[in-house]
Amino acid sequence: MKSQYAVIGLGRFGSSLSKELIKLGHEVLGIDRDEEKVDEMSAVLTHTVVADSTDEEVLKSLGIRNFDCAVVAIGDDIQASILTAILLKDLGVKQVVAKALSELHGKVLTKIGADRVIFPERDMGIRVAHQLNSPNLLDYIELSKDYTIAELSVPRRLCGKSIKDLDPRAKYGCSVVAINKQSGVIIAPMATDVVNEKDVMVIIGTNDQIEQFESEVIG
Ligand code: ATP
Repeated sequence: MKSQYAVIGLGRFGSSLSKELIKLGHEVLGIDRDEEKVDEMSAVLTHTVVADSTDEEVLKSLGIRNFDCAVVAIGDDIQASILTAILLKDLGVKQVVAKALSELHGKVLTKIGADRVIFPERDMGIRVAHQLNSPNLLDYIELSKDYTIAELSVPRRLCGKSIKDLDPRAKYGCSVVAINKQSGVIIAPMATDVVNEKDVMVIIGTNDQIEQFESEVIG
């Protein structure tokens, strides 16, 4: 469904986020106090405006409360980030997402009522470290502190092996929930389904189970 987003701060993060939202079919109002940043994005976004988001009257006049979600993508200027997030909540924006540069910045944003706080640099750093540590780990989602879904690429060595041959459930306690092949995705594969080079196995289990399976079988 098409939603209306306001993205405040059109730096590297805000501009990339807003372009992607447009690609996904949403409407995006981009706000930045820097005219150059706004000019760069004016042809791409639904609306753009040069404005200071710490000015309550400006936010009101933009009808900000009618947006489904507002993203505060201001980083360096922590004061502006916090003031903007407070104003957005006060003005009744349903969902306020804010980018934090540090743990403390994130804590303040949570305290003042931001619905979601994101740490792009910290989280991307962690993600890249995991991928460097396990070259066959393409991506992962942490379901909780202990459980993860991981995408593992199948090395040539395992080409032609069936799920039964690998037997991750009996040997490691984790399960293959899907195999992504060039020909299509097999959901809930059977024991007889075979993996080939370049297939991607989607595994669910505890972090330890997946790590062990990755290092002993895929690695
Ligand atoms: P990025 O890493 O995304 O490039 P950053 O973390 O370096 O960004 P900043 O440069 O502080 O973050 O902010 C991103 C954008 O937010 C900048 O284009 C800046 O002009 C804009 N911005 C900062 N404060 C305000 C404000 N009060 N109102 C509107 N825009 C603002």
